[in-house]
Amino acid sequence: AAAIVFDHVLKEYPDGTVAVDDLSFEVREHELLALVGPSGCGKSTTLRMANRLVELTSGRILINGEDITQVDTVALRRRIGYVIQHVGLFPHRTVTQNVATVPQLLGWDRARTRARVGELLELVGLDPDHYGRRYPHELSGGERQRVGVARALAVDPPVLLMDEPFGAVDPVGRRRLQAEFRRIHRELGTTVVLVTHDVDEAVRLADRVAVLSRGGRLEQLAPPVSVLSA
Ligand code: ADP
Ligand code: ADP
Repeated sequence: AAAIVFDHVLKEYPDGTVAVDDLSFEVREHELLALVGPSGCGKSTTLRMANRLVELTSGRILINGEDITQVDTVALRRRIGYVIQHVGLFPHRTVTQNVATVPQLLGWDRARTRARVGELLELVGLDPDHYGRRYPHELSGGERQRVGVARALAVDPPVLLMDEPFGAVDPVGRRRLQAEFRRIHRELGTTVVLVTHDVDEAVRLADRVAVLSRGGRLEQLAPPVSVLSA
């Protein structure tokens, strides 16, 4: 089944830039789909249309069969986790409080929130007792990205959008994060759309790779092996 459907999606920014041009493709439930292509080809725009940080100009996007323009944006963003390169942790909140943000907004009780936060920190490889009380500035870049992933997964969204999530991490740390993320994805079965300019990363992590070309057109959508040999 399709988790996300892009149906003839076009995005023209107010200055006339066509960032995405007649894009149609489906993201299957539980798959990890990587969006690759040269800088400026519309990867981020595509991702940000799916959670309505950017409004599309024409066409339709469906999440689990529902047109996203028919869903209230707060409800939509609860169903869609979002992780970006500079993950934007709240600087005056501890690791625990950062991860607990959405559960607290949803009014979860302390016990449930505490249990969930502990579980998520373990999942992303951070010992809750060691890291829970630290502030973002007391973490390495890789640790911050892990917290960002944990925070995005807090309420178990069926869909996770990631925009260069490991881009700010050093090469060695990036490899480790990629390996762990692949394990997490297998374990949770969350549908993931991963934007990256790093073809190696896409090949290593993705079930299928969508290649965009300049002007925001879909060039190819195939399993990683076919993309490599193209
Ligand atoms: P990518 O993520 O592949 O680098 P983007 O989606 O960021 O590509 O950008 C696609 C195109 O849209 C680029 O030409 C970019 O300059 C343009 N663009 C992005 N954001 C805006 C904006 N807010 N206003 C006008 N043009 C934009
Ligand atoms: P409060 O501000 O309500 O006193 P805290 O700031 O201590 O709560 O923690 C925020 C949330 O994280 C709470 O819901 C709490 O249950 C949970 N929490 C607190 N400490 C930990 C911990 N060490 N590990 C996991 N969860 C915790």
